[in-house]
Amino acid sequence: MGILVVGSVALDSVQTPFGKRDNILGGSATFFSFSASFFNKVDIVAVVGADFPKSDLGLFRKKGIGTEGLEIAGGNTFRWKGRYDYDFNTAHTIYTHLNVFSDFKPSVPERLKNSEYVFLANIDPDLQYNVLKQMKRPKLVACDSMNFWISTKKKSLARLLDHIDIILLNDAEARQFSGESNLFKAARSILKLGPRAVVIKKGEHGVLYFSRESHFVAPAYLLETINDPTGAGDTFAGGMMGFLSRCKKINDAEIRRSLIYGSIMASFAVEDFSVGRLARLSKREIAARYKHFRKITRF
Ligand code: AMP
Repeated sequence: MGILVVGSVALDSVQTPFGKRDNILGGSATFFSFSASFFNKVDIVAVVGADFPKSDLGLFRKKGIGTEGLEIAGGNTFRWKGRYDYDFNTAHTIYTHLNVFSDFKPSVPERLKNSEYVFLANIDPDLQYNVLKQMKRPKLVACDSMNFWISTKKKSLARLLDHIDIILLNDAEARQFSGESNLFKAARSILKLGPRAVVIKKGEHGVLYFSRESHFVAPAYLLETINDPTGAGDTFAGGMMGFLSRCKKINDAEIRRSLIYGSIMASFAVEDFSVGRLARLSKREIAARYKHFRKITRF
């Protein structure tokens, strides 16, 4: 069985120094699923409103992403508006309208309860927990979160951490969640809540991986063109989880490789707004960038 993701499917309005777009396809489950679909079969569990464009639904289907668990409810789709300055590492949220997510009761289709790889993408941690409880026996469970949930639902997030293998956060979120400014200490304190590993994303400065036994540091792929960093974190998670789902055995070396695939997928996502670049990406381009990444980081 492939990968199951629960998270937001959104209509985003985004402003960056290089452009502005309104009501474009976004959401944590969207970016994750587009990215992971290059590695394995992905199914999403989420909700959209009656206003969700059919053409956007078509984009999921075109990528072979399973939408059996995508509920279409009366009401409006989740909407997020954000702005980035020249420092692309910080998203300034202008508004978050949960809309149909406010009373969403996720129901995992029976067939998908056997999914071996589960990604609890950024959404209300109570919904993440609810989905996890419906799964039968996943091999690997990872989750993501963000400042919005850390400040409003910290206890729910802490409860979730005791049931997952890997948590991904960006550096600001890791600091906010742990109350530690030093990222090493932040990771150690998060590990104490139960996960086997913590991945701290540092945007253009790369990624840190911490388990109880080891840690690893990987740079980000250097790019000349960045138009919109929205979704980079979820796309990273999709590459990482997608790669891990294809490994016969998940060991330290494969985890390291998965972080590189995560960085590579994120590097494509930020080249265009929404899922524009991921929608027209090929496996050959991914392989070429992986090869180049090895070349520029080997010493
Ligand atoms: P990322 O840039 O990877 O952190 O994710 C950006 C995506 O997260 C956007 O497409 C938003 O629609 C989505 N998003 C923003 N705020 C939230 C939230 N509070 N819960 C779930 N998804 C969100």
